[in-house]
Amino acid sequence: MKKITVAKGDGIGPEIMDATLKIIMAAGAQIELDEIEVGEKVYLAGNTSGIAQESWDIIRRNKVFLKAPITTPQGGGYKSLNVTTRKFLGLYSNVRPCMSMHPFVSTKHPEMDVVIVRENEEDLYAGIEHQQTDEVVQCLKLISRPGCEKIVRYAFEYAKQYGRKKVTCFTKDNIMKQTDGLFHKVFDEVASEYPEIENEHWIIDIGAAKMADRPEMFDVIVMPNLYGDVLSDIAAQIAGSVGLAGSANIGEECAMFEAIHGSAPRRAGQNLANPSGLLQGAILMLNHIGQTDVAEKVQNAWLRTIEDGVHTYDIYKEDNSKEKVGTKEFADAVIANLGQKPTILKPVSYAGAGAALKLPKYQRKTPAKKELVGVDIFVNYTGSNPDELAGMLQKIEKDCAAELSMITNRGIKVWPDGFEETFCTDHWRCRFKPVKGSSMTKALIVQILLQAEKLKIDTIKTENLYEFNGTAGYSLGQGQ
Ligand code: NAD
Repeated sequence: MKKITVAKGDGIGPEIMDATLKIIMAAGAQIELDEIEVGEKVYLAGNTSGIAQESWDIIRRNKVFLKAPITTPQGGGYKSLNVTTRKFLGLYSNVRPCMSMHPFVSTKHPEMDVVIVRENEEDLYAGIEHQQTDEVVQCLKLISRPGCEKIVRYAFEYAKQYGRKKVTCFTKDNIMKQTDGLFHKVFDEVASEYPEIENEHWIIDIGAAKMADRPEMFDVIVMPNLYGDVLSDIAAQIAGSVGLAGSANIGEECAMFEAIHGSAPRRAGQNLANPSGLLQGAILMLNHIGQTDVAEKVQNAWLRTIEDGVHTYDIYKEDNSKEKVGTKEFADAVIANLGQKPTILKPVSYAGAGAALKLPKYQRKTPAKKELVGVDIFVNYTGSNPDELAGMLQKIEKDCAAELSMITNRGIKVWPDGFEETFCTDHWRCRFKPVKGSSMTKALIVQILLQAEKLKIDTIKTENLYEFNGTAGYSLGQGQ
């Protein structure tokens, strides 16, 4: 018997949770429920995180959490509980299977059977944002080697366990050579450890276009957080409906399972909602806790019910459906089909699959030789002439063993040899390198900043330029 934490959430949450639990219990799930309150009531009682401290203790103790959607109240500084949970519990992997059920659920992609594996903790979702000038704000995109290794390895191990043939990686490393470049590099490294699984990389734009047009080309797709967020919704939608997909959020210790849709408040309390998304989340959970026989039984009964044309309003179509049912009746129809298999749709078999993936702990590599070779000083300057700014900055050179080597504006090189046509904001990156024969030091950076201060140049931030084992760890200016 496995104890799991359950939260019924808001809106349609309680109805779809009741239906889901009724189905999995009828199928023989060996689980004991520990219910907690999260969401709207907790938020509106003044807790901006939407969850009480005691509930965290329960989630951490049970380690497995089945969560119905919750309503995040608008405004008022309320934090998304989903994002908080993922980060607090280190749920680094988001797994979302998207399979079409043609001809029973309308889709343009009858052959689609894709699993999106999305990195869940880092990238632009670190939420580190700053306004630096009147005109420019920035968001830091953080990609780490442990983050990449964990998610990519998860994707390959998932593929291995579930008999999937190919893992595809989507990045934009032609532009983001450092961040997406690292993700791609780690993908290639890890892929080489799984010669039995095909691997490929696509630049995200054309990859996404292919996925939307011919999703049957793909099997497992792994990608950084933001791309995964967008593409996993698209994948679920083109498979048939976002209302049919569930997702697993997996960490080293804990895991959370949910539907991908929200709390649909307008549909609440009317016995209308489709419980399938949360049921899919529960099936992922049953596999995770090793109750693969129950997971398989539920999934096959659910496929059979969809095939029987017993549909809730959201997927009901006169051509494909036989009976329009409510949440409870749908659950009862699935229960009546337990033990049955679909006859047209492909039945699932989780034998040999299932159970939580056991990944090796991340091993820190031998540190590279790190050498400070320059500095980018960011300047708030409201003029429009890069030559004039360069002239001001070159005054710094007189008292420092450093020289200005480049100025960019929004990444485009504007000095030396810029184009008049290039539009410039008030946010300039000014790159200093040590003069020949001397080396860059932190003290020299401080000196440059002090000189800039004397010259009344408004410096807003610095980024140190490093080489790692002799390879530049920073981007060149566009056009450099
Ligand atoms: P939503 O997913 O709740 O609804 C979008 C549309 O899909 C609506 O028309 C809705 O009626 C329909 N729909 C969704 N689930 C359905 C189901 N199971 N059966 C039938 N129809 C269904 O998205 P929204 O309206 O943008 O958000 C509503 C609330 O949900 C917001 O407060 C949002 O913050 C929250 N939300 C929560 C989660 C979560 O807890 N994981 C995820 C997304 C949104």
